[in-house]
Amino acid sequence: MLIRNVTALSCASVDVRTEVDVLIRNGKIAAVGKDLEGGKTGKGSVPGGGKPVRPETDEQVIDGTGRYLMPGLVNTHAHTAMTLLRGSAEDAVPEDWFNKYIWMYERNLTPDGVYLGSLLGAAEMLRAGVTTVADHYFSMERVFQAFEESGIRANLAWAVFGVGEQADAQLERALAFSADYSGRNSRISISLGPHSPYLCPDDFLKRVAEASEKLKLPMHIHVSEEPDQVRRSLADRGKTPVQVLADTGVLRPGTILAHAYHATDEDLDLIADRQSGIAHCAKTYLKFGDVKDLAPRALKNGIRIGLGSDGAASNNTMNIFEVGRDAALLAKASSGSAESGKIEEMIPLLCGGGRVLGTKQYGDIVPGAPADLLLINPETANMQPVHNIWANILYSLCERNIEKVIVDGRVVVHEGRLLTVDIDDLFHEIAEHGSSLLKDRGGGPMQTYDNK
Ligand SMILES: [Zn+2]
Repeated sequence: MLIRNVTALSCASVDVRTEVDVLIRNGKIAAVGKDLEGGKTGKGSVPGGGKPVRPETDEQVIDGTGRYLMPGLVNTHAHTAMTLLRGSAEDAVPEDWFNKYIWMYERNLTPDGVYLGSLLGAAEMLRAGVTTVADHYFSMERVFQAFEESGIRANLAWAVFGVGEQADAQLERALAFSADYSGRNSRISISLGPHSPYLCPDDFLKRVAEASEKLKLPMHIHVSEEPDQVRRSLADRGKTPVQVLADTGVLRPGTILAHAYHATDEDLDLIADRQSGIAHCAKTYLKFGDVKDLAPRALKNGIRIGLGSDGAASNNTMNIFEVGRDAALLAKASSGSAESGKIEEMIPLLCGGGRVLGTKQYGDIVPGAPADLLLINPETANMQPVHNIWANILYSLCERNIEKVIVDGRVVVHEGRLLTVDIDDLFHEIAEHGSSLLKDRGGGPMQTYDNK
């Protein structure tokens, strides 16, 4: 595939190149430069040499005149199937949100529901320009099925509670899933997903960390999401939750820390030192009325940060452009300064999850980077005039500006329409399935949130 004469926006380096051609081969960007198809100038950067290059077929040439090409966004922490619980737990403090609503309703969620919710979430994300998701949930074989069908790129962690009678069985099942599904689809990788330090004792976390090391699987875990979790951990264990992760071996390169929102300065030094990444879910924090300057502090420490939606029961959408906007506003509000959350600091976060997940070139339009790309049409009232292209991307872009979405070199959204999922059929199935989800069938919540 060749995208011709486009404005290439590299988000990680916040760099703009105008009127370039971008050649895609085997799911990756093969070359970026001028006049690539004719090979007249040899200006294109081609891996392994400067030879002229041609697209594989003529019909794969896309005219990018007047369009922006940018990397696909990465959702670094999601419970995608929770789209089925969108709007079901509003205006609630964390303990009510979990105990009265979410952990009651999740009891009713069947593997079929997880599949439908994951397909709905994947459809929503792809249409909104999110091309990768790091998902943390249950019934992951059904999540795998939904993501495989949708065409999204994904990393899947089976969520495991380390307390209760089922803890060992849950861990065994998560390990069996990783053994069965690793390598099945090059687009979908597997991680281990211990839920959190508050629901996993130290010895359980150590076992997961040992399995991670032995099986070469990264980890994805919630940590220090709200202040009570830190207070309770200091009272019970004499350590912050991040210190617990450091001492049990979970804090290591490649680990995704969902939130770390109440990390102390010492915690941030530890996270930087161990090279774990943070998934920052700004809209969720704002909905819980929790305003903290984590992102500016973590950025100062050089920590890799990606953005996350968490579940749609707290975030209401799976839209990472929206989370990026909220992250910028949260940085300003929490620091009390308009000079915090600067555009050039926030733009790299849109795709930052790609590097948190270990793909070095992710976020830039450069040879070797995955061909996960968005073609943006800026010729709409909300994107004109263009005094500051990055300000327009961060603060003004709407879903309707996303004309094409490419994942792994394949077009999955064309002229704003998702090609991989029959959305009308899906809505019909969800309407049938969703009506019983909020019923109380007794038995109480599936876990108890108690960090007081
Ligand atoms: Zn979460």
